[in-house]
Amino acid sequence: MSKHWSENRCRQPFFEKARQKARRAIEKGILVRPDTCEMCGKKPPPMKNGRASIQGHHPNYDEPLNVQWLCVKCHRKVTPIGKGGGKVFFGSENPQAKLTEDDVRLMRELYKPWVFGAHRLGKMFGISKQTTLEIVKRKAWTHVE
Ligand SMILES: [Zn+2]
Repeated sequence: MSKHWSENRCRQPFFEKARQKARRAIEKGILVRPDTCEMCGKKPPPMKNGRASIQGHHPNYDEPLNVQWLCVKCHRKVTPIGKGGGKVFFGSENPQAKLTEDDVRLMRELYKPWVFGAHRLGKMFGISKQTTLEIVKRKAWTHVE
């Protein structure tokens, strides 16, 4: 059993809990996604694939509501590429790799029929409604928990 695997296994619940809490806070309006980056202060242009250009980053997963809002460049600086297993792609730079495993998990968390449906979700991630449905219904990306 690889060291890498067991480390991820241990840390995963913290990631999930922090993400869930942050998501609820966003839904309730406690956390608001700004349009400027907290680190460099720039206002990044919207991404070609329609994804939010400011991303939520948890500097400390023990503080789920302590979210840093960063542009893609700064987010990449604070989050080493490859952390969590697979390669990390950024939509604007790798148009062929539209989704990451994190995207898929986020989509499944965000999906709420009639409230935040497949059409809206798909637009946000730059993929079709059909693909979105397959992902949230776990017919695609089935290797992602
Ligand atoms: Zn930035």
